[in-house]
Amino acid sequence: MKICIPKESSHNETRTALIPENVVKLIKHGAEVSVESAVGSGCGYSDEEYSKSGAEITHDRKALLSSADIVLRLRKPPAEEISLMKKGAIHISFLDPFNDYNLIAKLTEHGISTISMEMIPRTTRAQKMDALSSQANLAGYVAVILAADNLNRILPMMTTAAGTIMPAKVFVIGAGVAGLQAIATAKRLGASVEAFDTRPAVAEQIQSLGAKCVKIDIGETGETKGGYAKALTEAQLAKQREGIQKVCSTSDIVITTAQVFGKKAPVIITADMIRTMKKGSVIIDLPIESGGNVEGSVIDHITEKNGVKIIAFPNLATRVPIAASKVYSTNLISLLEEFWNKETKKFVLNLEDEIIRGCLITHNGQIINPAIKK
Ligand code: NAD
Repeated sequence: MKICIPKESSHNETRTALIPENVVKLIKHGAEVSVESAVGSGCGYSDEEYSKSGAEITHDRKALLSSADIVLRLRKPPAEEISLMKKGAIHISFLDPFNDYNLIAKLTEHGISTISMEMIPRTTRAQKMDALSSQANLAGYVAVILAADNLNRILPMMTTAAGTIMPAKVFVIGAGVAGLQAIATAKRLGASVEAFDTRPAVAEQIQSLGAKCVKIDIGETGETKGGYAKALTEAQLAKQREGIQKVCSTSDIVITTAQVFGKKAPVIITADMIRTMKKGSVIIDLPIESGGNVEGSVIDHITEKNGVKIIAFPNLATRVPIAASKVYSTNLISLLEEFWNKETKKFVLNLEDEIIRGCLITHNGQIINPAIKK
């Protein structure tokens, strides 16, 4: 089976889908691996390292794509490259399947079998393939580092002969994978941390990291079978805003990470709330690609409102590409190995398996994932 990795098309993508040490693993399984020249340049891997690991290096992107049985990427394929792939080829990447209908239609039309990494089920067995978590975890870390770098004060408490400096106050909204890592990182840097999430089960996790859990009565919330938050009603969101207003106004850093799977992110911090915040404080709007949690934040920009910096850089994991590529590449290898037939030396799309059923979007010229089809 020929597994191909083109260089990522997005100009600001630094990560790569497959790192050299994982090329070795695929070759051991009997696969042929071909990569586009400079595929790892964003995170410091040279063509020579790929070549030493056993990959073929090519400058001919079109030939690479048209010869692939499997294409591995981070981001969704550019629409114009879909027709280059063979009918029946398998494409594995993040795909944004709830929002990019035209792309899904085109993949279907060209008979490509598409795995969406966002749709890997959140089960214990699939944990090692969970790329949403591996990237969100790093994004949570980067969010704190970015905020600290933009704050005009330090995070830890310092007692010196010249006096005592009090710790910065950090408020994390949404304590899922990214939020919990943000809490842990801010605690390690010595900040005083508070957090809020709508899922009641999270309170214990927040406290176990040494942070204070902000309690707001917004009525029935709960979570889906997959462990995701349910969307709040407008009335609940209004109660939440009222409840967190005071915490925001006394915080030095607010990190928002609130998302509802498959939907636009809820607006949690309004312009009125920002007006009550301390001058010099920093907000990180982490889910900016799904619309963001902060009114007035602008994707890829630092906006200043009433002396408060609102940072809305997309895809924070791209700022730590070595770590992000390593874990994403491991997620892909785990997926390939789970469904690798050792005798035929082929990756098999087992439609009876719950992991494949969860993440396979298009197959045999049809949209077969029920959630996406709907
Ligand atoms: P996510 O990115 O969809 O959302 C981030 C957080 O925002 C969630 O904790 C959510 O509850 C919270 N949120 C939503 N609306 C909010 C609001 N209005 N205010 C405040 N917070 C709000 O979620 P995620 O981080 O990808 O994962 C969520 C959970 O899924 C995890 O914490 C975990 O319980 C579960 N999970 C399970 C597995 C597994 O079992 N293998 C893997 C990953 C995640």
